[in-house]
Amino acid sequence: MKKIPHRIYLSEDQMPVQWYNMRADMKSLPDPIINPATNQPATEEDLYPVFCKELAHQEMDDTTRYVPIPEEIQEFYKMYRPSPLIRAYNLEKALDTPARIYYKFEGNNTSGSHKLNSAVAQAYYAKKQNLKGVTTETGAGQWGTALAEACSFFHLPLTVYMVKCSYEQKPFRKSVIQTFDADIVPSPSTTTQVGRKILEENPGTTGSLGCAISEAVEKAVSTEGYRYVLGSVLNQVLLHQSIIGEESLLAMQMIDEYPDIIVGCAGGGSNLGGLIAPFMRDKLTGAANPRIIAVEPASCPSMTRGRYAYDFCDTGKVTPLAKMYTLGCDFIPSANHAGGLRYHGMSPILSKLYHDGYMEAVSAEQTKIFETAITFAKQETILPAPESAHAIYGAVQEALKCKESGEAKTILFGLTGTGYFDMIAYQAYMDKTMTDYIPTDEELEASFAKLPKIPGIQ
Ligand SMILES: *Cc1c(COP(=O)(O)O)cnc(C)c1O
Repeated sequence: MKKIPHRIYLSEDQMPVQWYNMRADMKSLPDPIINPATNQPATEEDLYPVFCKELAHQEMDDTTRYVPIPEEIQEFYKMYRPSPLIRAYNLEKALDTPARIYYKFEGNNTSGSHKLNSAVAQAYYAKKQNLKGVTTETGAGQWGTALAEACSFFHLPLTVYMVKCSYEQKPFRKSVIQTFDADIVPSPSTTTQVGRKILEENPGTTGSLGCAISEAVEKAVSTEGYRYVLGSVLNQVLLHQSIIGEESLLAMQMIDEYPDIIVGCAGGGSNLGGLIAPFMRDKLTGAANPRIIAVEPASCPSMTRGRYAYDFCDTGKVTPLAKMYTLGCDFIPSANHAGGLRYHGMSPILSKLYHDGYMEAVSAEQTKIFETAITFAKQETILPAPESAHAIYGAVQEALKCKESGEAKTILFGLTGTGYFDMIAYQAYMDKTMTDYIPTDEELEASFAKLPKIPGIQ
């Protein structure tokens, strides 16, 4: 048999020209989002004040299986895509496993993550609608950077609310975002009503994605010609990220491979939802049955320890309610270093698939994650983002099981990005000052007790 190359590249003309919408093949759909003003399912029109029209449509569209990728977005993608599928030969050797390990590397752009795939789409549709600008939040900073790149390309003004602890830990993230002309505000801030309220109730707070979302939404709906954009969780974001999985499937077909196991890290679910999309299509249509594993931080375990319930998508309770795995919208996770995974909820699509048994979830403490990250960096020469290292950890655990059983399984994981802005965290790991915080059952119960009550529904 011919040796499989280390890096498996599609050519530019083999790139997918459509996004895939998993909802079109789901036997049972996620429950509808609820408008908190009426306690009724939200309509597409209800979303127009918050999202631009085309994105509101994509958000609510449960039936269109394939959405053509507009040519301008395809052209943008070609600046950094197709991304490579890489055979982790050296990691396999170091683990002494018979498993074949592949990873899809999404770190080849300035944001250092997969987030640009959706940022360019959202900036494009906003510009097409002639909006005056957009607002967003960013946790670790990858999304803020990606969106700043995309908005600057389309000449669209952008204000980014950045979670305060990341803003302070990663000053150069701010500089990169400003390089692309965006305004950046540490959250919670005094620039919004909801920010002032959160600060009043909790003056020392280091912020959370949930707080930053509330601020960005308030700013968007109260500024004429502005809309809000979000880098994860939403159906539209999973749709855009399906490019990751479609490319992975095509690249694996080129070498006659198909994954037995697919692993991804899960913050709001966008990279995982994108990576698994075509494989979930095979599962839903009965064509194949790979295992799918989400890996989340033990400090913010929304799938493994959360409730499947209606909840607000933000701490300030200004967004619609979504049925999802959640730790409660008031839950503020400890200042975990994987900032991109510090979100109380999970994509409603992935939540539903998980609830219906189509995927599994595991969690891990951050010291174990960094140990794995460093092993990987030494073997494969890519310094992973702490978020991505969760996926590596999950893949390594499965590869070690293959070593026990002697099975040569094919494992695919998503390497979502690079960790150059995370050196404070790497340093803390090396200095042995990194700690693992795992919320107690009592803390979680207290948060679940505050889940919203919706008459007739929950
Ligand atoms: C944002 C981010 C994540 C987590 O977000 P998802 O929406 O769950 O994919 C993972 N890895 C990197 C590098 C990120 O920037």
